[in-house]
Amino acid sequence: MSKRRKNPPVPQDCPCGLAAYTDCCGRLHRGDVQAATAEQLMRSRFSAFAMHDEAYLLRSWDPSTRPADVDFDPAMRWERLDILGGSGGGPFHTEGTVEFRAHYRVHGAAGELHENSRFRRDNGAWVYLDGVIEP
Ligand SMILES: [Zn+2]
Repeated sequence: MSKRRKNPPVPQDCPCGLAAYTDCCGRLHRGDVQAATAEQLMRSRFSAFAMHDEAYLLRSWDPSTRPADVDFDPAMRWERLDILGGSGGGPFHTEGTVEFRAHYRVHGAAGELHENSRFRRDNGAWVYLDGVIEP
């Protein structure tokens, strides 16, 4: 039980920046709906990182690459997500990529993560496979 830590509060606006949290990634985090596209899953995972929702991150991770647990850096605040592009990942695809830039702050200093992530369907549901960090 030592893993239980204080999570960031549930936000009004979705961390992914699209809409109100309850109408956006909140629906996926609660399990009300599944991601229809790889981009939607990517957004919901960014929001889950921002909110330290380990359970959601693990269940949206491909079983072949899923870690045993997710370590959150309490000093790291994910602030904004920019989707830069992608391929496939639509309602009729089984694979897709999403390129994004995720902006964060650590102890007040701004940083960003630029990654090209790969997604695939696992029993119909989009899951995160792996990613390549871009310079
Ligand atoms: Zn969202």
